[in-house]
Amino acid sequence: MQLALPVNAHLNKIKVLEDDRCTYCKKERGDTNHIIFGCEVHKDKIDILLKDLQTMQLALPVNVNYVLAQDQKDINCRLYKHLASCSIIV
Ligand SMILES: [Zn+2]
Repeated sequence: MQLALPVNAHLNKIKVLEDDRCTYCKKERGDTNHIIFGCEVHKDKIDILLKDLQTMQLALPVNVNYVLAQDQKDINCRLYKHLASCSIIV
């Protein structure tokens, strides 16, 4: 599974955006791991996601590459639901 999330850090790197800060909090560098697992704007939902991932036997801390490398349908579905609940467009 590939995740094609047009994050500001990447858009800055390819010179599409001048500002690499997160679209949501406007404070941290807006890379994929920050947006999915670290943004304070989505903290409550992230906490629930991390608990669910632990229940699915994933060791914390997690990052996008680690989670996707599991290549398990239930984990991918849980990640997708998290993105949707945070209105993160993939
Ligand atoms: Zn943020």
